[in-house]
Amino acid sequence: MAAADLDDTTRCPVATWCESCNRTEDLYVVTADSGMGGVFCMTLCGECCERPLPQFGVLEATTRVAEHCGHLGIDLDQMADAVVTARRAADVAESGGA
Ligand SMILES: [Zn+2]
Ligand SMILES: [Zn+2]
Repeated sequence: MAAADLDDTTRCPVATWCESCNRTEDLYVVTADSGMGGVFCMTLCGECCERPLPQFGVLEATTRVAEHCGHLGIDLDQMADAVVTARRAADVAESGGA
């Protein structure tokens, strides 16, 4: 069973500025774990990609997760399922790799 690839950013729109420092060049879409059962995307410049991600409030993070679901063509239930599947896979890799 193939779970949705939550880190796929091929259909995510790139903003015209870095969402961390407002730079307008050298921009990339990156994904981040909201920590609340979802992954979202944002636009960062090359420099900010190397730094800790900016923190978002619960409401904005939730909104962004919903938007990223739209980019991936999945709904919030499928997003939640994919997060659980990814965590399980990580757990298996951890317990099996030691
Ligand atoms: Zn930046
Ligand atoms: Zn997205």
